[in-house]
Amino acid sequence: MRRRGVVRLRRVVFRRNRSTIWSLTRGGSALNLHEAFRSAPAPLLDAFAVIIQERGVGSAAARRASARIRSWPELKRALDAARCGGVDAAVCGGETPPAPARCCGTEGQRRYLRALYRYLNATRFGGVLPDGVPLRLSRQMRSRLGHMLPARLRGQRRVAEIALNVDLMLEGNGAERLDTLLHEMAHAADFLQHGSVGHGATWKAWARRVGCVPEATYRRPVQTRKRRRDAVTRVPPLPPALARLRD
Ligand SMILES: [Zn+2]
Repeated sequence: MRRRGVVRLRRVVFRRNRSTIWSLTRGGSALNLHEAFRSAPAPLLDAFAVIIQERGVGSAAARRASARIRSWPELKRALDAARCGGVDAAVCGGETPPAPARCCGTEGQRRYLRALYRYLNATRFGGVLPDGVPLRLSRQMRSRLGHMLPARLRGQRRVAEIALNVDLMLEGNGAERLDTLLHEMAHAADFLQHGSVGHGATWKAWARRVGCVPEATYRRPVQTRKRRRDAVTRVPPLPPALARLRD
């Protein structure tokens, strides 16, 4: 930035949250950026220099610079990944499967998840998903409801895991639980069939086919546990059609 003639800037802070794309604070001396911009190419740095020099987006030149920043494809990809979480094949692109993360669920919850997964795979996905995809519940997720972690093993695409926020097991989250599991299973099908991650056209096609909201974010409120340290042990009731499939 100094080389671009920007002298006012004192610090640059990278943030991972989905709401920050960029912002100027502390009288224009601090630039807060989404961490995707760590790898921003020169034309984007030029655009930031314009915005800082103009002290915001008041001028036409600064607004053009802002539009150039917003339309950077890498940013969109990074924001999509942040919404759903972990959807980045590079994370586990090695030749060995990543060690499974710890499931915070009970034995009964794990049986429930497996039964629901098998049922949805059979009834909505035409059985295209592997039966043994690792499933787990997570108490670490905050705003996220779930993720699908893609992996490559000896050149083959694999699903390292599908994880759901444990809050989805709470009473009152039935629709959200079903929608999130379908959402993540659609990621799995999309990755295995097309090698795609994120919420692109092929994922949306799967989402529509299996009947989940074809969007990256879920807008309805979700019940959450009162304190983060609270254990969630509830096993939601399985509908009769699923109960018959239980093993
Ligand atoms: Zn997603």
